[in-house]
Amino acid sequence: MKHFDYIIAGGGCSGRSLAVRMLPYLKATNKQVLLVDKFPKTGNDKTWCFWEKHPDIFESTVYRKWKRLSFSSSFIDQELDINPYEYKMIRSMDFYAYTNEQLSGNNQIVTKYGNVEYLYTEKEQAYVVIDGETFSADYAFSSIPKIQKKRPERYQYLLQHFEGWMIETESPSFDPECATLMDFNTSQQAGTSFIYLLPLSPNRALVEYTVFSEKELPAECYTAALKQYISKQLHCNHYLVKEVEKGVIPMSDHPIQQQENCIIYLGAAGGFTKGSTGYTFRFIQKHTAAIVEQLLKSGNPCIPSISPERFCTYDGTLLHLLSSGRLSGEEIFSTMFQKNNPEQIFKFLDNETSIIEEIQIFETLHKKEFIIALLNRTLKFMKTSYFE
Ligand SMILES: Cc1cc2nc3c(=O)[nH]c(=O)nc-3n(C[C@H](O)[C@H](O)[C@H](O)COP(=O)(O)OP(=O)(O)OC[C@H]3O[C@@H](n4cnc5c(N)ncnc54)[C@H](O)[C@@H]3O)c2cc1C
Repeated sequence: MKHFDYIIAGGGCSGRSLAVRMLPYLKATNKQVLLVDKFPKTGNDKTWCFWEKHPDIFESTVYRKWKRLSFSSSFIDQELDINPYEYKMIRSMDFYAYTNEQLSGNNQIVTKYGNVEYLYTEKEQAYVVIDGETFSADYAFSSIPKIQKKRPERYQYLLQHFEGWMIETESPSFDPECATLMDFNTSQQAGTSFIYLLPLSPNRALVEYTVFSEKELPAECYTAALKQYISKQLHCNHYLVKEVEKGVIPMSDHPIQQQENCIIYLGAAGGFTKGSTGYTFRFIQKHTAAIVEQLLKSGNPCIPSISPERFCTYDGTLLHLLSSGRLSGEEIFSTMFQKNNPEQIFKFLDNETSIIEEIQIFETLHKKEFIIALLNRTLKFMKTSYFE
């Protein structure tokens, strides 16, 4: 059986982030990693956006960035100066090209394409079965999606589903300096729904219709919402759809195991998708950076959780409130952006605020509704067992 120091199962966003971050450590220690994915990655299958204060190691792959964001709803219409943050966009094709370049021709990284059928851990070793062949490692890092049995009697489950069109307009229609984080000027019938708009030039933008609800919508609903917004709100009737992006991101407070002896889970499979927003990219970066820091310090990749447990309670409470319908997402997010500065909101959504800062934010929100949601969530927990 072939043995590696480490196996990275899944070479998407988190697997590649970890592999690139590990390179200096691997070179210094002459250790070897097997990086395995089903397919080579080159295409533009995703656009990752996130906010950040300081450039990180993938800064050269950033395609566009904005210092100003707008937020619109029937309650407020606001332009946000997000200093000291910047809102950044990375196209997956640039990320894959950059990471391919960093990882290729490197004795420390062996790349393999195949189907990871199974991972297990035994006697302080990890084992990964790829197309019927078993490989062993001191540790395996996996971002292979895990199937988790839902427990609706205990946890909240919503989906963030979206369709985005990269459009080109005949006449200048966008302000390339200001992206739209949320524009609720779209029907709220299907659930919390908003338009997210990333202007790339005065004539080119990604316009995305996003819904938080229990189920995806029929395909024609996304088309209708996008056409209506582009014509009624953007006043564009002559445009070309150059690319389409669709996606579904689970939003839940169901805990996800982050480590099982010698298997460490990464990315969405490790629960690094923020339950209440779906943002994952920055959490992946923080997690993989923390693993490598620990490796450099102690030679061991095991780390405690990167986010305090209380943030899971906040995410679950918000999901509970959204699912209950007692308050619309439009009202909740409008109040949050109207009464708090963007720096505090981003820090809070990054799970980085102190308890005092969190209390200051809660003071500005619909306290009664949030307390009811928190009590209902606690009641659900008391009525059910933690174990299945
Ligand atoms: C369309 C879309 C847009 C998104 N946009 C954003 C965004 O703007 N900002 C943000 O923060 N988050 C975003 N997300 C959420 C999240 O950042 C991404 O899903 C991110 O790619 C998660 O990284 P990952 O490593 O967990 O998964 P992936 O990047 O999906 O990597 C998993 C890898 O495992 C491989 N794999 C799966 N099964 C097997 C198998 N059996 N054997 C071998 N290999 C296998 C896959 O081929 C894939 O390469 C988006 C998600 C989607 C779907």
